Amino acid sequence: MNNYFVILAAGKSKRFNKKIPKQFFNYRNKEIIDHSIEKSLNSKLFKKILVVSNNLKHLKKKKYPKSISIIKGGKERSDSSLKALKYLKRFKPKNVFIHDAARPNFSIRLLKNIAKNLKNNKAVVPIISSKDTIKYKTQNQIFNLNRNNLLLTQTPQAYRFEELYKITKNQKNKVTDEATLFINNDFKIKFIPGEKANNKITYIDDIKTPKTFYGIGFDIHKLVKNKKLYLGGVKIPFHSGLEGHSDGDVILHAIIDSILGAIRKKDIGTYFPNTRQFKNIRSTKMLKPIMINLNKSNFFINNLDINLICQKPRVSKYRDKIIKSVSKLTGINENQINLKGKTVEKLGLIGKEKAIACETIISITKYD
Ligand code: ZN
Repeated sequence: MNNYFVILAAGKSKRFNKKIPKQFFNYRNKEIIDHSIEKSLNSKLFKKILVVSNNLKHLKKKKYPKSISIIKGGKERSDSSLKALKYLKRFKPKNVFIHDAARPNFSIRLLKNIAKNLKNNKAVVPIISSKDTIKYKTQNQIFNLNRNNLLLTQTPQAYRFEELYKITKNQKNKVTDEATLFINNDFKIKFIPGEKANNKITYIDDIKTPKTFYGIGFDIHKLVKNKKLYLGGVKIPFHSGLEGHSDGDVILHAIIDSILGAIRKKDIGTYFPNTRQFKNIRSTKMLKPIMINLNKSNFFINNLDINLICQKPRVSKYRDKIIKSVSKLTGINENQINLKGKTVEKLGLIGKEKAIACETIISITKYD
């Protein structure tokens, strides 16, 4: 194993729109650059990992293991790459992997596949096909390119050190990857399948992750004679109904409170106080404006779990109906709603069929 791994991290990230260069931006619990460093270390494929950067002070604070060296980068990517090769020459490497720090999502499997292919090839480059249809513009004309003929190259790319060093040293044009040099010099490259997830982070939007919130809800109503029983918006034949200012639908009330909890907007009583306006209101009507607001603000409900706590009626008998109804009222897919029935061993008011309670938990993601 005479492989060396170069991580190019000298870019200024002009398109990233943040004060710090993107390679030091926090992404999935660590700095973008550290994803590449950790994976190259963990692969155990490399004698040395060389980081090329213009933020030496910041990197030296991090106390990396000894197998990691840090050198100052150049003005352009191609300058940094040449500096790296000149530095590595003293170690007489057989193979060198060159990687852009802005691609933190490659897998160790990809590294190993590259290493395997290097045994019989002097250059190995991962590629993926283009999802987009691309046009090529010259001064006076725009051409259509056939998408099927387009190959998008990724990093890490790996090369026989001697070959790469020779052509990099003699290069005149600034190139944005080493594969370009190999192609310009008519050298053969072995292309292997890249990874869709191994995308390059260029804009801050590339790594914005939506936030997920959770909310719980609880409700209990007394059961009284001569009232209709509504659970989850479904009318259920029963000896009593739930008393309340509204129709007393404990399931819908708990759902409303869990939604309000997740989006941090107080509670059901704030929006539906016990005033004349809401006397005998159906709970489906209470849920409606809450859902409209939720959808307007780009929130998306992932799943909803419901505990219905009652001695009777038997939940299993009405489960499908209630889930269907809640799905219709909230827009949550039926298979993302779960309803559990809990009896209370005939204990207390609920056990004596004098009350029904409900608790819910909901997960909601906010998209920009
Ligand atoms: Zn209630």
